Formats: sequence, structure tokens, C-alpha cells
Amino acid sequence: MKRLSDIGTIKDILSRHGFSFSKGLGQNFLVNPSVCPRMAELSGAGEGVGVIEIGPGIGVLTQELCALADKVVAVEIDKRLIPVLRETLGEFDNLKVINDDVLKLDLNKLIEDEFQGMRVVVCANLPYYITSPVIMKLLEDKLPIDYITVMVQKEAAQRICAEVGSRECGAVTAAVNFYSKPEMLFSVSAGSFMPAPKVDSAVMRLNVYKQPPVELEDDKKFFTVVKAAFAQRRKTVLNSISSSLGLEKQYVNELLLECEINPQSRAEKLKLEDFAEIARRISL
Ligand code: SAM
Repeated sequence: MKRLSDIGTIKDILSRHGFSFSKGLGQNFLVNPSVCPRMAELSGAGEGVGVIEIGPGIGVLTQELCALADKVVAVEIDKRLIPVLRETLGEFDNLKVINDDVLKLDLNKLIEDEFQGMRVVVCANLPYYITSPVIMKLLEDKLPIDYITVMVQKEAAQRICAEVGSRECGAVTAAVNFYSKPEMLFSVSAGSFMPAPKVDSAVMRLNVYKQPPVELEDDKKFFTVVKAAFAQRRKTVLNSISSSLGLEKQYVNELLLECEINPQSRAEKLKLEDFAEIARRISL
């Protein structure tokens, strides 16, 4: 297997295909040879496992995943990369490349069609411009997957992996923690990419729960409450929820007191169970 992370090899392939990077599609390709083997190893890819990769680029991570897993399905939006991938990954008969936008795909159907009888994981170096929508889609679609191992901007990883109820916690932290236990794996410097982005990255793994840690009848209400509470994070939870949802302050004040939450606290102080309790009682 010819390692694709070699910078000379990448430049040669890309120039032969007349390829130029698209900033809009978040195309920063990995050129640090130690990152992809490590990421693939930690992703859960192995015997009996199917992997969904998002944005294979020229296939640098894909080749490591193909070497470990039973099957890999890689979803790439940029049609100019399809002939490149045919050249770079032609040796693997356990790979399927789909030319599509991952945000538009029915991933439950994809798993049913492609990974019968296999455990499934997701592994990707995500384009920065859609980090949160992709992660939330993977979680909200309630896919039968064990792990989501993704490289994202370091700051985004730190926020997602923060404790719910800590200063770094945001709406996305609470939402991700509802579905999974996030774990920071390792940092990756900006110089590991071509072209180099302005910021460092980090690899994190979301260990997806079979059952959410809090019981709810209506998940949607929970997320509405979380978003509203963090909408104006400098304000008190009372002010943020009432103004974001257009509710009477007195009603929200009483509701928070019934939930044994101090109406003057900030959203970042609340635990998952607090948001859940508000969602159970609130009338929208
Ligand atoms: N995996 C490669 C690597 O690590 O070198 C490339 C990673 S690059 C950060 C992101 C990749 O995602 C690009 O190949 C880009 O074309 C692709 N991409 C961007 N938006 C996408 C979308 N909505 N659906 C699928 N792929 C997308």
C-alpha cells in the first residue's frame, strides 16, 4: 500500500488531475503521515466493522480504514475527486465511494443497504464549515453506530468535550452529551495539512449511547430548551429562555423554581438533567 500522506505523492496526483483546492468545501488535506494510522486505529475499525467516512479527499485516511475494516463507504461531495480516488484507492475491493453531500443522504438507509450484519462506526477529517451540522445529523438521525471519530477545529473539540455544567459548555456540548460520551483523543497542528489552516485541530471520539442518559418523552423540546437557554449566554437562564421562546417571565420563573433551578444562574451551570426537567414541564 503506497502511503498517500507523502507531500510529493499528493502534489503529483493533484497536478496530474488538474486539481485546485476549494476553500468553500473545507479542503485541507492531511500530509502528516502519523495522523491517519492513529486515527483509524482508534476509530473502532476492524474485523466485522463497516466504516462511513465523510470527505475522503484523495483517500489518505480512507486507505488506513480500508486496511482495517470489512467495508468502507466514503461520501465525497466534490466530483473532481472521484477519478482521483479511483486511481489512489483502486486496489481496495472493500471500498464504495458515493459522490454526494453527506447532509442530504439518508444514512439509516445507507447503513441498512451497505453494512448488513456489521457493527458500524464513522471516521472523518471533517470540513470545518459543517462540523456542527454533520455531528448533529449523525446523532439526531439515531444511527445504529458505536463511535464517531472526527477531526475538527481544536476549539470546537474542546467545547464539545467540555463537562456539561462547566464554563466551556455550550448548546452543542449539551446536545452531543445527550447522545454520546465525548472523549478528546489527540491534537493535530495546523502544519499537518495542505494548505495549512489558520488554527490547530483535534481528534475526538463520541462514544454513542444505546440509551440517552436522561429520560424524555419529547427530544425536540429538550433541544429547544437547550438552544433557548444558551441563546444569550451572558444573560440569566430566566431571561434567555423567556426572551428566546417569547414566554412570560413570571411563567418561566415559576417553572425554573419548580425544577429547583435558580432562575438567576447562567445556562452553563445547568446539568443535562436540569434541561430535561425543564423540557418535561414546559408548555410551548
Ligand atoms: N479526508 C481527507 C484528508 O484528511 O486529507 C480530506 C479532508 S478535508 C478537511 C474535507 C473533505 O470533505 C474534502 O474532501 C471535501 O471535498 C469534503 N466535503 C466537503 N463538504 C462535504 C459534504 N457536504 N459532504 C461530503 N463531503 C464533503
